[in-house]
Amino acid sequence: MNIKANDPTLKSWVQVPENSDFPIQNLPFGIFSLDGDTPRVGVAIGSKIVDLKNLFELGYLEDTPFELADFDAAVLNPMMLRGKQATRTLRNRISELLNIENSELQNNPEEAKQIIVDMADAKMHLPVYIGDYTDFYSSEQHAYNVGCLFRDPKNALMPNWKHIPVGYHGRSSSIIVSGEPIHRPKGQKRPNPEEPPVFGTSNLLDFELEMAFVTYQGKPLGDHITTGEADEYIFGMCLFNDWSARDIQGWEYVPLGPFLGKNFASSVSPWIVTLDALEPFRVPGPLQDPKVLPYLEYEGDKHIAINLEMAIQPENSEATVVSDSNYKYMYWNMNQQLAHHTINGCNINCGDMMASGTISGPEEHEYGSMLEISWKGSKSVEMKDGSQRKFIQDNDTVIMKGYAKNDQVRIGFGEVNTKVLPAK
Ligand code: CA
Repeated sequence: MNIKANDPTLKSWVQVPENSDFPIQNLPFGIFSLDGDTPRVGVAIGSKIVDLKNLFELGYLEDTPFELADFDAAVLNPMMLRGKQATRTLRNRISELLNIENSELQNNPEEAKQIIVDMADAKMHLPVYIGDYTDFYSSEQHAYNVGCLFRDPKNALMPNWKHIPVGYHGRSSSIIVSGEPIHRPKGQKRPNPEEPPVFGTSNLLDFELEMAFVTYQGKPLGDHITTGEADEYIFGMCLFNDWSARDIQGWEYVPLGPFLGKNFASSVSPWIVTLDALEPFRVPGPLQDPKVLPYLEYEGDKHIAINLEMAIQPENSEATVVSDSNYKYMYWNMNQQLAHHTINGCNINCGDMMASGTISGPEEHEYGSMLEISWKGSKSVEMKDGSQRKFIQDNDTVIMKGYAKNDQVRIGFGEVNTKVLPAK
């Protein structure tokens, strides 16, 4: 597939700092507002944002299949409802306008001033109206580690795990954007298995290092999306920290799975990096043995290499990276997840969000949760300020970052940072 905007030789007349997450080859979409202005669609480049509402009003998007209301919007959904070909055309057009060899906007500084704004002045919003949120459980190392911690190493993976991309329906209304703090959750837990349960604040608050993808409008109820079609239904990806209260989770999860241990918050990064921009970073997935059922078979490289890290920043101190993992460690890819999700006729809608599940690599420093890093609280991690962590403490800020990189371009996701305030 030849996507014009991905050309690694492109250069922009908008200055892009070295090692920026947002070179001209990225052009992720988000929702931003400036002081006193309404939220609208923007595209990140370097340390700037392209205001698509103003870009449209000034006539630069005339040959694209969009209307003003698609960009004068507080979420990306109206724009995404136009579909994959439309958003690809749009990204190509923005790339063209920002290209150093194109003079249309570059030579019109009066209009450029209304269109290109400083990221530092902007407030970022939750980019998508998320109708439904699904969380998968697709990293083998994570599933194995959790199986070892809660059952035994010989039977760490459940019998279904290599046959089904296991998932559950989560709560979309508590998905929040980077920068919004959370309060430590309270709930019922049973710290001593010999004693009755107790109520109190969660002492085992944890992050989960995940990626999420956002869908275009799917098919009607009863239809399904094949692994071969799945790419056409995926708009893009963001970083995803799926907050988890391990003590609440441990007591409540049998038999129906996660509930109050998970639904109090999940945090996402504000920029949606398009699947198109990630195409150069496709890698082969792991050999799937036993062989999967035909509806889960796929062709080509459908995994993606994305470097991911999670850091903990104690209050008034610097951050310590506690995990560096990679999206390539997924056993099940997005195409298989989407095919599985819809194979029973379940519909998906524009703006649905599907998270990967915690992504752990084979090495200990690649584990994607404190549950695994502290091995269920049996060991602690030292912060740069000398303090110790087994789980997340009050007033810690948890910061996730991610980027894909080859020898020509670096496509970043920005970050998701969330401060944990004491329980209300
Ligand atoms: Ca999760």
